[in-house]
Amino acid sequence: MKRMTILCCLAAAAVACGAVGFFHRIESVAAEAISPLTPVLLIDAGHGGFDGGAQGADGTVEKTVNLEISQRINRIASLCGFQTVMVRDSDRSVEEEGITGLRNRKVSDLHQRLKLTEQYPQAIFLSIHQNHFPDETQWGTQVFYGPNHPQSRILAQQIQKNVIECLQPENRRAIKEAQDNLFLLTQTTVPAVMVECGFLSNQEECKQLCQPDYQQQLSFLIVRSVLEFHKQDAEGMEQSDGAQDEKTVRLLQLRI
Ligand SMILES: [Zn+2]
Repeated sequence: MKRMTILCCLAAAAVACGAVGFFHRIESVAAEAISPLTPVLLIDAGHGGFDGGAQGADGTVEKTVNLEISQRINRIASLCGFQTVMVRDSDRSVEEEGITGLRNRKVSDLHQRLKLTEQYPQAIFLSIHQNHFPDETQWGTQVFYGPNHPQSRILAQQIQKNVIECLQPENRRAIKEAQDNLFLLTQTTVPAVMVECGFLSNQEECKQLCQPDYQQQLSFLIVRSVLEFHKQDAEGMEQSDGAQDEKTVRLLQLRI
């Protein structure tokens, strides 16, 4: 029953993404993907409420795109058998009540998000954001990872690789370790990545990021990466960075 649910989910996601022949190819992967020890996927839609985050030239607000993609990830991951927790599932911030002043509210909001990761020590923390840069030609997904858990880098690499393979073949960006300005990634102790899905400052990419089909493709690739990450131990994944084993090659053949 569970296996069927996973297959239905992946097939539905594939159909949504316009896949051909996807169902047959993913069957052997999905059947092994979920174990009884599947961790909680903690999905952090960046910003929210008073904190809009970055803004595109056309008025697109980061918090909205973050939430839309996070909700898609939540739906796909839930259908795949993950227990999911969303830091926010509506346009709101999560600071403690009674805090006043924008800066204080922002600090409290981040601390509340960190507290949530502490409640789920077996979680994978997945933070969804959009980028912004003065140079409007910059584009492309880039994944950042926390320094405190060795598997964070491995998950980041898997997401970056899948997005480039399937969605952005011209993307030359590499994963980056989070610096002090990325509070949640540097503070949490669970495997943690932040996906900067794209640049709202790039008009073309901003339009894409608002499109449901593109959001779905990106969300599916992120969940697929988590599935792959979950089913391979850290050592195996590191080896696959260079010489990919047969199973990884098979996974990378999945096109959406
Ligand atoms: Zn952001």
